[in-house]
Amino acid sequence: MFTPLDWLLSLFSLDIGIDLGTANTLVSVRGRGIVINEPSWVAIEKKTRKALAIGAEARQMVGRTPANIIAIRPLRDGVISEFEITEAMLEYFIGKAHEQSFVPLPRPRVVVGIPSGVTEVEKRAVYDATMSAGAREAFLIEEPMAAAIGAGLPITESRGSMIVDIGGGTTEVAIFSLGGIVISRSIRVAGDEMDEDIIQYMRTKYNLLIGERMAERAKIQVGSAYPLPEERMITMRGRNLVTGLPEAVEVSSIEMREALAPTVQVIVDTIKDALDETPPELISDLMESGICMAGGGSQLAGLTERLSEELNMRVWLAEDPMTCVARGAGRVLEDYDNLRRLLVGLHRGSTHH
Ligand code: ADP
Ligand code: MG
Repeated sequence: MFTPLDWLLSLFSLDIGIDLGTANTLVSVRGRGIVINEPSWVAIEKKTRKALAIGAEARQMVGRTPANIIAIRPLRDGVISEFEITEAMLEYFIGKAHEQSFVPLPRPRVVVGIPSGVTEVEKRAVYDATMSAGAREAFLIEEPMAAAIGAGLPITESRGSMIVDIGGGTTEVAIFSLGGIVISRSIRVAGDEMDEDIIQYMRTKYNLLIGERMAERAKIQVGSAYPLPEERMITMRGRNLVTGLPEAVEVSSIEMREALAPTVQVIVDTIKDALDETPPELISDLMESGICMAGGGSQLAGLTERLSEELNMRVWLAEDPMTCVARGAGRVLEDYDNLRRLLVGLHRGSTHH
């Protein structure tokens, strides 16, 4: 029942949308926009598994930790593999968003994006983690749904629309109509895999062992999925596996495209596969509205051109593609009466741990 106290609480408490991504966690607060945008990293003490640093601070420690500390990405594969650590991360970020207000506020209402196709146990884990992190009410939404809302797609209309969200750990493809997901695909191939491709390529072709951060930098600076107007060079630093000595190697954007090609192809094929199963009426809608891309990986140079050419459709980047999920999750609370049906239902009574 909705009591006057509920009403008073809702007036003063924060409404929060969270994108619990495999690479980055973002928090949007109603009326304030994105207030937190940090890498999903946690540094923990090995023995006790206690969290010592979270977010940007933890990422700084990657590859530099002393023996008793490890830095991990608890969501690496799009699921909560490390429940307690994810909980600590959520608690920290919700607390941080809450602290930014000047007056003490009642506990917030929170909507969290979850990858589509997670199990009942995993859903329950995110719900429990959000509640124990201090939420007054917690709701879940499938990430592609949140991304589509954040991108401003008309998903509640009968006319079909489509989103492709390429993150760090997963690529999610979804086609919507009447507020529901009609066709979806979720694969564990995305930005991380591209970094891995570059590491492999450098190892095989140049006997050069490079780190994950070097690989990611190369991908962002010179990686592509389509010939660039002007091809470029980048210097890769690492360790030569034959001599064991540090070495710098110049590589071209053409080589980087070659390195990324298999992963890009997997993404292209996954989208084709989803389109193959789409009813013809919706296909005709999509030919008008095009395919909207979100997530950090969608910003790979030339990816929209490549997809347009292969799919014979208009493909476009959402505005601010990396914040769509957090903004979309937050927006559900702004229009709760109309949009609540888009939230994920939880089966009561299921337990976890
Ligand atoms: P997640 O939702 O899994 O947290 P994000 O949507 O935050 O992921 O995207 C992170 C991924 O996007 C990383 O793999 C990162 O390297 C990649 N990325 C970010 N910017 C670019 C860019 N300009 N070009 C290619 N990849 C990018
Ligand atoms: Mg994401």
